Amino acid sequence: MEKEQYSADIVVRFLEGESFSKRDFVALLEAGKNPETCKLLQEEALRLRKKYYGDKVYIRGLIEFTNYCKNNCYYCGIRRGNPNVKRYRLSEEEILSCCKNGYGLGFRTFVLQGGEDPFYTDDRLVHIIRQIKENYPDCALTLSIGEKSKESYRRFREAGADRYLLRHETANEEHYRMLHPEEMRLANRKQCLFDLKKLGYQVGAGFMVGSPGQTMEHLAEDLLFLKELEPEMVGIGPFIPHHETQFAGEKAGDVELTLFLLSVIRIMLPKVLLPATTALGTMDVRGREKGLLAGANVIMPNLSPKENRKDYELYDNKICTGEEAAECRQCLSRRVESVGCHIVTDRGDALS
Ligand code: SAH
Repeated sequence: MEKEQYSADIVVRFLEGESFSKRDFVALLEAGKNPETCKLLQEEALRLRKKYYGDKVYIRGLIEFTNYCKNNCYYCGIRRGNPNVKRYRLSEEEILSCCKNGYGLGFRTFVLQGGEDPFYTDDRLVHIIRQIKENYPDCALTLSIGEKSKESYRRFREAGADRYLLRHETANEEHYRMLHPEEMRLANRKQCLFDLKKLGYQVGAGFMVGSPGQTMEHLAEDLLFLKELEPEMVGIGPFIPHHETQFAGEKAGDVELTLFLLSVIRIMLPKVLLPATTALGTMDVRGREKGLLAGANVIMPNLSPKENRKDYELYDNKICTGEEAAECRQCLSRRVESVGCHIVTDRGDALS
């Protein structure tokens, strides 16, 4: 078959919802290098986003409550092995004050994100979760605190946590080894995601685009894994090097490929909650707007105290580290409206 014919064919098969093998996904990703194909899939992704969500964009208030981490992921600026991080932890009072500020700005979802910090024992976390849910019963609470035992996840769920974000990072074993030290296991990370689903969390998986060593085959495996897991949320953003990691000299992930993947994921999982990520906004001044046009429908602005923001530096040049939450909120409204969408004050739960 002619190459062009094959590439048109694969796009049609994808749009028809045919079940895809790894090889098919690789072909689809190759076809995505053609701007025409990109545009076609973007239009379909936008149609689906509008069909299910209209012009609504959900906002999630991100509270980066600790930058201590016991892990040493090679790509991450706050990994244990980086001695040049000014470490901080927010107290329960500080976390609640972030929520208060956020609530006033219209946030109805709070995301507690942090490194894997043993200071926050299960008991401490349960207490924090209960406090947030008692004070803000109309808000959803999302956790993004890494790999825990099923029993811990169960306790957090019982305390009131609604959702959990745990990017799988890469679905391929060898690639996972290139990004993580020996003591970390992809199988464990995947198991955590299945445990979280069983416990009734709305679950978010995801990966970085263009992380060191990543190939089209790896991305195809990521898409297959998403198909298998069927998460309610998918977080993807370009990899961005951090100057104090072993990947300091690596290339950042590609914005166009990230946008293409957003469209592919919207088409694959039409009802998925899909953030236009801060990393995308870091790589391109209009990255988040472009993300919305490619099928995304969620934005996760920062509610962390201004004085701590620059210390939660997962990658270089992270945007919005110098602003107050209120300033970010206003700026975002304008950005979202510039692409025909509007921010809603709503929990924004997954559509069943
Ligand atoms: N400790 C939590 C939260 C991790 S931070 C956990 O393990 O889930 C959230 C996400 O930031 C990570 O899952 C990773 O995909 C992303 N991230 C980390 N370093 C990055 C980098 N250098 N560039 C882009 N994204 C990065």
